[in-house]
Amino acid sequence: MTRAAQAQINLHALRHNLQRVRDAAPQSRVMAMVKANAYGHGMVRVARALVDVGVAASGILPHAALAHPCAADALGVASIDEAIMLRDAGITAPITLLEGFFAPAELMLIQQHDFDVVIHHPAQLAILEATPLATPVTVWLKVDSGMHRLGFAAEQVSQVWQRLAACRSVRGPVRLMTHLASADDLASPQTPQQLACFNAVTAEINAERSIANSAAILGWPQTHDGWVRPGIMLYGASPFINDTAITRDLKPVMTLTSALIAINHYKKGDAIGYAASWVCPHDMPVGVVAMGYGDGYPRHAVSGTPVLVNGKRVPLIGRVSMDMLSVDLSSQPQAHIGAVVTLWGEGLPVEEVARCASTISYQLLCGVTQRVRFVVV
Ligand SMILES: *Cc1c(COP(=O)(O)O)cnc(C)c1O
Repeated sequence: MTRAAQAQINLHALRHNLQRVRDAAPQSRVMAMVKANAYGHGMVRVARALVDVGVAASGILPHAALAHPCAADALGVASIDEAIMLRDAGITAPITLLEGFFAPAELMLIQQHDFDVVIHHPAQLAILEATPLATPVTVWLKVDSGMHRLGFAAEQVSQVWQRLAACRSVRGPVRLMTHLASADDLASPQTPQQLACFNAVTAEINAERSIANSAAILGWPQTHDGWVRPGIMLYGASPFINDTAITRDLKPVMTLTSALIAINHYKKGDAIGYAASWVCPHDMPVGVVAMGYGDGYPRHAVSGTPVLVNGKRVPLIGRVSMDMLSVDLSSQPQAHIGAVVTLWGEGLPVEEVARCASTISYQLLCGVTQRVRFVVV
């Protein structure tokens, strides 16, 4: 028998979550983030489901279908390789390279495939000015409004804007983008500060603008603007700290499951797993699940992290190993070998598992490995 570890990808949930983006930001266009293999969900299948919403809903062949009103307006990726993969799969929707290009040679591919680019650094501006393109490219000018990762400082924006507007390789009008550092914390003063900065530096410029990630879409309506850029909420996880998607009417797209491959009965005082880090407090049944960090389950998940066995919560015990983890079956004595185990997804929010492993849902979703079988539902 093949290994039971499986990631079910629910494209209905994905489209439901896209509709939630539309509900939250009805005036905005949507650039759906499919970078990092669509947060681990499979980039091409996710992109198809997002831009061909009508196709999936109506059953019409893709090439015969018109764009559905609810479909995403554009896709966002981190590198040209990801972007080319989407074009090779037949996706014709606008694709934005969120970090632009890294070398002059990429500009030819960008032109050939008609990708949109973010320009965030003087070196990119210089390359663009030095490279005449037969077909000009659509450009987003990235403003650093306070996150201090990528983007032009406030005082540079007006000059960069003018140079881009004058550049023959740029298809006007140039658009404006910034990124928020703390939108997931609704009490943080950083978001209003960044918004004020962005508004001030762009006040004199009449352009399409984009600010909002998932947290801002749900929590900061004043940031919605012309374009929103949802990522994590499309995949059905909450962007907020100490929150789960259920309270936001988002549905998990990935459900990671496996099975019990052994059930053993141990005595009070017996130690479980590597480093004997967990000791049975009484005589008890212990289940072994075919799931470990080799599948992308976090090794740092602590004892007590919830796992579902036949839909019922049981605690993880001991160290997570490469191929297996152990669970306390005291509350589920009737469980048998082969029982379905859910690690996260439907019935168990990935945010909760992430907190137990001192990380965020994004990392768990991105980290599911090759050997897990992906099944689309
Ligand atoms: C990844 C990304 C997003 C989406 O962020 P979420 O928190 O997943 O919604 C938005 N904008 C940019 C520039 C990004 O890189």
